[in-house]
Amino acid sequence: MPSLNQQILVAACLGLLIGWLVGAMPDEAAARTSVLYASTLVGGVFIGLLKMILVPLIFTSIVVGVANLQAHHQVHRVWVTTLIYFVATLALAMLVALIAANIFEPGAGLSLTLFEDAMASFEARQLTLPEFFQHFFANLFQNPFTAFANNSILSIVVFAIFLGIALVAGGARYGNILVVLQEFLELLMRIVGWIMRLAPLGILALLIRLVAEQDASLLTAVLGFIVLVFATTLFHGIVVLPAILWVIARKSPLWFWRGSREAIITAFATSSSAATLPISMRCAQNNLQVRPGVAGFVLPLGATMNMDGTALYEAAAALFVANLMGIELSFAQQMVVFFTAMVASTGAPGIPSAGMVTMVMVLQAVGLPAEAIAILLPIDRLLDTVRTAVNVEGDIIGSVVVQQLAGAAAPAGDVPQADRA
Ligand code: ASP
Repeated sequence: MPSLNQQILVAACLGLLIGWLVGAMPDEAAARTSVLYASTLVGGVFIGLLKMILVPLIFTSIVVGVANLQAHHQVHRVWVTTLIYFVATLALAMLVALIAANIFEPGAGLSLTLFEDAMASFEARQLTLPEFFQHFFANLFQNPFTAFANNSILSIVVFAIFLGIALVAGGARYGNILVVLQEFLELLMRIVGWIMRLAPLGILALLIRLVAEQDASLLTAVLGFIVLVFATTLFHGIVVLPAILWVIARKSPLWFWRGSREAIITAFATSSSAATLPISMRCAQNNLQVRPGVAGFVLPLGATMNMDGTALYEAAAALFVANLMGIELSFAQQMVVFFTAMVASTGAPGIPSAGMVTMVMVLQAVGLPAEAIAILLPIDRLLDTVRTAVNVEGDIIGSVVVQQLAGAAAPAGDVPQADRA
């Protein structure tokens, strides 16, 4: 029996191939309908399982992570290092995007009439910068039960951090609660191990659907932009992030790929860093030897806040839209794009196409029409694959880097590693 890792690789390749074959069939072909039906069903179950475990996992891992960090007086260093890493890599990602978009000018000279239909039928979701902040802070603090029920990841993170700190401040008196939570986390990781067994099938199904349902004519129209986004995102993922890993932790890209490919392929297929989180945690702890104390803190936070791929995409897309409109953005305007894309990507939840909602904010910040999103939406599912994979890669590399920089004496996390299947 091939290892899970190999099964996932084979599933991903098969998924792309079958998807392409099914996409080539006529719309009414019975085989096409049944394959698409089956893949929707199986893909749905896989994502459903990941989502089932997600909220309890984020909550428990952050409480336990913070409690352990605090207990070892490491919280300050880990916090600061994590935030510096997030901001630095986001900035690098956007720099790559802006430089590439300025050199290659995607969209310049493309006929806009091509998109007039799309624009006409689209109603923009307006979200200005002040509105965004208002929304962001209003949602930060919520009744935890409401947050759990609505999957409001950011408010769950905030509540869990409070609880983690309170647990430590309370000291030995609450030791039992901490032990219960640690054991609960161990159980959740065991379930993640079970869900992983289904990953090859889930990934196969998700990729078949993704490839089969792409609209080829649209793809060729914006091919230049798609190639540019793929190339720059891959550059960030294959060159920039591994370079950081090498310089700081002296770990090779191959070592990283071997340890994290289950998570990265899952991110590619699900387009959701949040749904991939259970698998990222497992890879970081079991394969890359990141201590649960650090992984449990950096990864859930990263899945909601650290999105290099999304930031890069939003910056490139803003320049693409400007080119389409025949508008040249000044250096100052590009700086505005830079900062809003950073905030926007931080605020985007780790779910499919989340970046599209915050994209509106970036467009509006430099006076571009929000309606232009209609051009980006049809190709978003495709672009979301690679940017989510890079988002997740950035989080996992972050956990290794933070452990290296701040975690020399960081806690082991006291969570036994569950189910190394
Ligand atoms: N799908 C991305 C993620 O989950 C977010 C986005 O850019 O839409 O990381």
